Amino acid sequence: MNLSSPRLGLLVVVSGPSGTGKTTLCRKVCDGEKGVFSVSCTTRAPRPGEEHGKDYFFLEEEDFLARVDRGEFFEYARVHNRWYGTLKSYVYDYLRRGVDVFMDIDVQGAVQVRGCDDELVERCLTDIFVMPPSMEELRQRLSGRNTESAEAFELRMLNAEAELQHWSNYRYCLVSDTRESDEQRFRALLEGEKMRTSLVI
Ligand code: 5GP
Repeated sequence: MNLSSPRLGLLVVVSGPSGTGKTTLCRKVCDGEKGVFSVSCTTRAPRPGEEHGKDYFFLEEEDFLARVDRGEFFEYARVHNRWYGTLKSYVYDYLRRGVDVFMDIDVQGAVQVRGCDDELVERCLTDIFVMPPSMEELRQRLSGRNTESAEAFELRMLNAEAELQHWSNYRYCLVSDTRESDEQRFRALLEGEKMRTSLVI
């Protein structure tokens, strides 16, 4: 091994309740060259300002389920009453080319990725749970975002309680503080993970 030995990319799974800032965190560290944000498919409606192909691939339920049947998803789950999934095509090519892939997915998706029994994934995978500092703070952050109807907001708060039960299944838990502090600790963690010998080809 030497400095120029080729390496696989890291597969970084990030989960946590809606409103913890995990999407922002992933987006911050993706420069598009050494790291990409995995753009998921979803059947939920786009929020104002969201773009097809950049934030999500917004699909009709029929299209999503046809892709499930064709085995196109690396993982998928029903979250907040909508379908969400990661396409296989989005993950493997990048990892083999040494590009880190950041997956912002829920706890059910993370279980599927951990259990996928694939040597490449085993070598590349790391997972992080982003924990809100408190439920009150989470409520404030989610309502400050102003992206959900009252009903969807309450569903997300309810689901947050269930998601929080899963934190200890992750290798790392990042308790959210300020945006700056979260980003600093996230980058530090990634720097360490990049030194894993399992990534050397
Ligand atoms: P949002 O609707 O706020 O963008 O996302 C709702 C939840 O769905 C978040 O917890 C997010 O992590 C999760 N999610 C987004 N994309 C995927 C995906 O491809 N697979 C799974 N399992 N969850 C996803």
